[in-house]
Amino acid sequence: MKPFLFVLVSLSLRRTMALNAECLPMESKKLFVPPLPELAKVIQKTLLTNFAEVCVEVVDCPDLTKEPFTLAASGLSGSQKLVEIGGNPYLLPCVQREKIYELKDIVKLVKSDPAFIIGPGAGPNPYIGVNCEGIYNLLMESGNVTKQLTRISKVDENDDKSVQILLPDNETRLALLGNLYFSEGKPGKVIKVHAKKRIGEHNLITAIRTAVENEYKDKLVGIGGVFLLKEGKAKQHVMRDFSKTPIKNEEMLNKWLKFYNMSAPLIAVGTLVNGDGGLDLRVQHFHSFSHHGEAGHYHYDTTPETVEYLGYFNVGEEIYRIDRPVNTHTWGRD
Ligand code: ZN
Repeated sequence: MKPFLFVLVSLSLRRTMALNAECLPMESKKLFVPPLPELAKVIQKTLLTNFAEVCVEVVDCPDLTKEPFTLAASGLSGSQKLVEIGGNPYLLPCVQREKIYELKDIVKLVKSDPAFIIGPGAGPNPYIGVNCEGIYNLLMESGNVTKQLTRISKVDENDDKSVQILLPDNETRLALLGNLYFSEGKPGKVIKVHAKKRIGEHNLITAIRTAVENEYKDKLVGIGGVFLLKEGKAKQHVMRDFSKTPIKNEEMLNKWLKFYNMSAPLIAVGTLVNGDGGLDLRVQHFHSFSHHGEAGHYHYDTTPETVEYLGYFNVGEEIYRIDRPVNTHTWGRD
């Protein structure tokens, strides 16, 4: 092979192949698992300061494969784990394109089978050719994808609309960063959160996280699940394609991100933790998809008067931190 051709081939291979999972640094920690009835009370109390109508209770998980949630498995129970992969320092200030992870390998690393995976991440840019948001929602059994409902969202060529695309069964990569909730997708007890009319400053997830932070100060608690923005609109972003110049601060970041006011119903998946846990964790991160084409990174609702949320959450038993950035920073994690 001619030298220049060899360089081209090896460059393109390096860009599209996932990192060898066995070589990825990994840490794990047991999480504190509060009794669900106690946790429900804690969340209810704090949400009442942020929403006019609140009901938080422990229920049997409804079948989440059905409308309006349309997830890849029915429940949120069985070997519940939070899995945080990579991080913002792989995107900011400059993208590290080699940071591509194969979820089929990650599943083996964290010993999850079956693995029902939901949550946000950077989508597989080698698949679509540009940077994108990932809204992960898939079920794997014995190393095979048995249900793939993962979407990606990108900014269209005219820098105008966002475009949502359903991934095929054989595309199970994640780029740069992810905050995923793993379970066996089994039925079981979960926390149901129903909240209407926002009267406080916090978005739904910040309000729940604040409750957990204040109650369990010296214990690490991790929560994952799904919520529906049933009524109203939400400020969401979609990342544009990778910046050709370094993004050095929040101001530059907010110019690079494309913000949208997206409409209900939006189905958001993700995780939250009540602290850093000494693992350089992102404390909350949710992405949402829809059946009307809009999808992105959830910031907050923009319609406090009319907003209505319905969510189901469960508690993680352990947290895995995979390929944690050595040179880290804390900005751009909103
Ligand atoms: Zn995000």
